Amino acid sequence: MALAYIGLGSNLSDTVAGQELDSRAQLNLAIDSLSAHPHILVSKRSSFYQTPAIGPGEQPNYINAVAQLDSQLAPLDLLDLLQSIENQQGRVRTVRWGARTLDLDILLYDQLIENSERLTVPHPRMHERGFVLAPLSEIAPDLCLPNGENIQQLLANCSMQGIVKL
Ligand code: ATP
Ligand code: CA
Ligand code: CA
Repeated sequence: MALAYIGLGSNLSDTVAGQELDSRAQLNLAIDSLSAHPHILVSKRSSFYQTPAIGPGEQPNYINAVAQLDSQLAPLDLLDLLQSIENQQGRVRTVRWGARTLDLDILLYDQLIENSERLTVPHPRMHERGFVLAPLSEIAPDLCLPNGENIQQLLANCSMQGIVKL
């Protein structure tokens, strides 16, 4: 069993089974899909955070959150599952960092360090992102990264500009 942390984000609504889902509903549905998997237990989830979009062009604000999973899936199997949930919820890949209905990133997987073609863990940009560090520290205030950095130090050194806890 591994302890994994997943970053969730959405800045577009989508229609699923004829129902319009806003960004918060997208994240709730993604957490429901994770919980429904027989080899995953969602053991904690953070509050939602509203975050100004980074990336190209004018985009709606994001809603972000972090979930803690007890996972029996290997890292790449977990990535496959996250990508299948993104696809189920209408994720369309166009431009890099473009607006999306759902983004699910593996932030940490136990103390694993991996740099392969499909997967980099810890997530390579998590340490500079307030919208990741704030919800992560809410559910795991004593967390240390595999390189020894601790979450409180990282949080103190990153910008929280425009980020609002909902
Ligand atoms: P960012 O990585 O800056 O948050 P993004 O989430 O918008 O950007 P995507 O387009 O969702 O990037 O993903 C691009 C690729 O990143 C995926 O196809 C996946 O193989 C790869 N990837 C590498 N490491 C990870 C990780 N830790 N979690 C999720 N995807 C990852
Ligand atoms: Ca991302
Ligand atoms: Ca992603």
